Amino acid sequence: MVMGDLVDEVEVAVVGGGPGGYSAAFRCAELGLETVVIDADRRLGGACLFEGCIPSKALLHVAAVLSEVERAREWGVDFGEPRISLDPLRKWKQERVVGKLARGLAAVAKGKGVTVIGGRAVFEDSTTLRVEGESLQKVRFKHAIVATGSAPAALPGIALASDRVMDSTAALALPDIPERLLVIGGGYIGLELGTVYAALGSRVTLVEMTEGLLPGVDRDLVQPLHRRVEKLFAAVHLGTKVTALREAGGRIEATLEGQGAEAFDRVLVAVGRKARSAGLGLETTGVRLTERGAFIQVDERCRTHDPHLYAVGDVTGEPMLAHRAMRQGKVAADVLAGRPSAFDNVAIPAVVFTDPEIAWCGLDEAQAKRRGMEVKIAKFQWTASGRAATIGRADGLTKLVADAASGRVVGVGIVGPGAGELIAEATLAIETAALVEDVAATIHAHPTLSESLMEAAESLLG
Ligand code: FAD
Ligand code: NAD
Repeated sequence: MVMGDLVDEVEVAVVGGGPGGYSAAFRCAELGLETVVIDADRRLGGACLFEGCIPSKALLHVAAVLSEVERAREWGVDFGEPRISLDPLRKWKQERVVGKLARGLAAVAKGKGVTVIGGRAVFEDSTTLRVEGESLQKVRFKHAIVATGSAPAALPGIALASDRVMDSTAALALPDIPERLLVIGGGYIGLELGTVYAALGSRVTLVEMTEGLLPGVDRDLVQPLHRRVEKLFAAVHLGTKVTALREAGGRIEATLEGQGAEAFDRVLVAVGRKARSAGLGLETTGVRLTERGAFIQVDERCRTHDPHLYAVGDVTGEPMLAHRAMRQGKVAADVLAGRPSAFDNVAIPAVVFTDPEIAWCGLDEAQAKRRGMEVKIAKFQWTASGRAATIGRADGLTKLVADAASGRVVGVGIVGPGAGELIAEATLAIETAALVEDVAATIHAHPTLSESLMEAAESLLG
């Protein structure tokens, strides 16, 4: 130890102040453990609050309002052409939404006695962290929880350093509304932020390397979204790669495989995220990483191979979702405090906040069949929903997957407005091992979109 180094001795050091890290820290504090959070930006919220879930959903809300205004013309209500002012929009997103929530998290930390230290943390061994902040600091701990999250993946081979080539963080800053935007990647971010920019007035071209949008997601759910983005976007190229990017004359020239070169004002690269496990000094600990993706290996109790270290959130792998990180954070805290707890959830909901929204949980039809399960499938089209008719959105679908042998609901997929809220009931049904007849016999308020789940269940009963 160098003379003059500041040394903190704590029971728990949490590295990373995102949803995984702050949920773990708050729970540790509730359990009476002295806890510090070390975050490179000295704030709680992480990617989710500052450059992910929250700012993107604020902008998607604006996009939804714009498309609702457009739809209202059909109902005889014309608000005229929307005029978009970026300064107030940025200010609302940054100050009224993100800033307000950030202040709330800081207040909760203070209330619970959780200290937030600013700086980049590096492990020196299994019980010591070096914090490279304004001053050098060491933190000695009994347990550490690694929650360093993930960062955008770069385009292999054709990365171009230019302000016009944006990752999701740069795109969320809304530098301008480009006339022509190229979105590379038809996953969560490409579709959500492509929707935002298209609603704000950009002509969006989306390029997806695989043969369909949202690879891995049930095609019955993706199809209505695909139809919608084909109208909303200027072009959607599936099974296509961008083979070159070049800056010329203040624009980006992109070569699309089999399509030739096209010029764009900006490019959004959204081809996935990678674990932030490098440069953390993990080699000085007993932690092991996965061969593919360099994710930290954890068991169902969020324990790593080092008895002092736990890990939660995106740095531990897929699905990289904030609510998974939060649940893992609580599990890690309970486990290190000696409480019986495990990340043994049966269903993790996923929501793509596009228009229409897509949400799912549990097993989809293909996954259930791959497990050798004999399944019963119900598809309730929203054309038969009173509520969907009243909001002019009959394009939705609720799909229910049941295990034929036990009668249990094992998976649900929903596409349509509000799918992200509706999926909560399905997640609870699966987590509590509800039978199809439980869902069918539960009274659902009329007229609501939630009836679609009851209707799907009813259709499976003889
Ligand atoms: P993070 O939120 O990434 O936080 C990690 C923190 O650790 C950061 O603050 C970082 O600065 C800090 N850190 C890293 N290394 C160090 C170090 N060495 N020392 C100190 N601090 C360090 N998920 C959803 O569930 N719903 C959504 O709607 C959603 N939308 C998204 C939209 C976008 C555009 C993006 C990019 C992501 C979105 N996600 C969404 C994913 C979600 O943001 C992540 O799953 C979630 O933030 C992961 O939380 P985490 O705690 O694991 O890590
Ligand atoms: P993603 O994995 O969802 O999608 C990446 C897409 O890019 C895939 O469809 C992939 O086939 C495609 N792709 C990969 N390389 C390509 C290339 N060279 N050319 C063209 N297409 C290519 O990743 P993302 O959209 O970057 O999002 C990252 C993660 O962040 C998500 O997986 C998710 O975990 C999280 N996220 C969640 C939400 C939400 O919950 N609503 C929103 C945004 C992000």
